[in-house]
Amino acid sequence: MHLAWGEEEVTFHEELCAFLDEHTPPEFERGFDYAGEAGDTDESGEVVPAWARAWQATLFDHGWMIPAYPPELGGRNATLVQTLVYLEELARRRVLRSFHYPGYGIVSPSLLEFGNDEQKRLVPAAVRGDTIWCIGMSEPNAGSDLAGLQTRATRDGDRFIINGQKVWTSYAMVAQKCFVYVRTDPDAPKHKGISLLIVDMDTPGIEVRPLRHLSRAAHFAEVFFTDVEVPAENIVGEVNDGWRITQGSLAHERAGLWVEGVCRLDATVSGLIEVARRRGLDQDAAVRRDIATMYEQASSLRALGYKGFASFAQGSSAPEHSYMKMATSEIGKAACEYGMQLQGAYGLVADPERGEENGRWTNYFFMSFANTIAGGSSEIQRNIIAQRVLGLPRS
Ligand SMILES: Cc1cc2nc3c(=O)[nH]c(=O)nc-3n(C[C@H](O)[C@H](O)[C@H](O)COP(=O)(O)OP(=O)(O)OC[C@H]3O[C@@H](n4cnc5c(N)ncnc54)[C@H](O)[C@@H]3O)c2cc1C
Repeated sequence: MHLAWGEEEVTFHEELCAFLDEHTPPEFERGFDYAGEAGDTDESGEVVPAWARAWQATLFDHGWMIPAYPPELGGRNATLVQTLVYLEELARRRVLRSFHYPGYGIVSPSLLEFGNDEQKRLVPAAVRGDTIWCIGMSEPNAGSDLAGLQTRATRDGDRFIINGQKVWTSYAMVAQKCFVYVRTDPDAPKHKGISLLIVDMDTPGIEVRPLRHLSRAAHFAEVFFTDVEVPAENIVGEVNDGWRITQGSLAHERAGLWVEGVCRLDATVSGLIEVARRRGLDQDAAVRRDIATMYEQASSLRALGYKGFASFAQGSSAPEHSYMKMATSEIGKAACEYGMQLQGAYGLVADPERGEENGRWTNYFFMSFANTIAGGSSEIQRNIIAQRVLGLPRS
């Protein structure tokens, strides 16, 4: 079967390629590929380097940051199918739109859906990357069970006072603003007493303590709130209605993840072929079979992704996305480990100065664990598949 885009998509794709050929920063040529979290491999060590900020602003100014948005929000009113064409082309070139996804990926769609007019005015800067946002959902005792969050916000006249702790807050050390999910009614059932507040990260009483990944990069942090005063008008939506917004935020996060997951997996498998060739293992029957199996898995996942996308485009929910999220991250992890195996003793060397290919396979193996946790762990995705796809009862 041959699948091809229509005329409109072809023209759209040509325009996109012309733009990318002209404007893509050279830094991407070093290849933020495989399991890649781009910021981890930036030489400057900055979480959001200056060139990446300039790139995001360029995308916005040319209407290529979120093509489905109108021009004033960094888009060009593209259709859903054109958005897919866009995401695939970026992923194929291993080019990231941004080094900090919360602002454009989670905050903006949530504010457009639930925010008041004042809050909606924060969207252009979030999409252009002029404001860096972080998301304060997880806590030491509330991750998969997000509704168990305990950070407390108490109303005091025209402000809320926040006390508590968040953890794994990506970009907290560089963010100007945070979406903080807080408990505003401790007596209500746990899903019903949660609210969402917009908090400026330089407010007195906020302490950010960076946490390091296995790969040594520090991309997330613990965030402590001690008597942090926030104007009452910073609430998004209604008091105690924050759970509804969390569901929107997570859906926005997952909707585009599968394309990146599949393209990343394709790139990982191509990388395995290169390693096998370089190490003279490309004629080894067992290696050929293993890599062919991963290639087959990546191709099937792409086909399944298209199927889910078709339902999503027609307005139905796409539980396939849960499977895609779980499968692309788990197979990606296995593929990175296989890359280390193919490298023999070099597979144990993470130091970019001494390892083969800058220690890439080892470091990406470390990072690949994060992909199986962030945005909902594999076990949670399996629960969703069991209940919503297979119709099994809750355990
Ligand atoms: C790279 C990265 C970036 C992140 N960025 C952010 C961020 O910006 N903001 C933020 O708020 N959070 C962030 N997180 C946190 C992330 O959302 C949580 O780690 C995730 O939801 C899991 O929660 P937890 O770590 O508390 O693990 P837990 O929920 O404590 O789970 C521990 C283990 O138990 C399993 N488990 C839990 N419940 C079940 C169940 N019902 N059935 C079967 N197994 C179960 C889990 O799968 C996991 O293996 C990030 C995480 C990572 C890895």
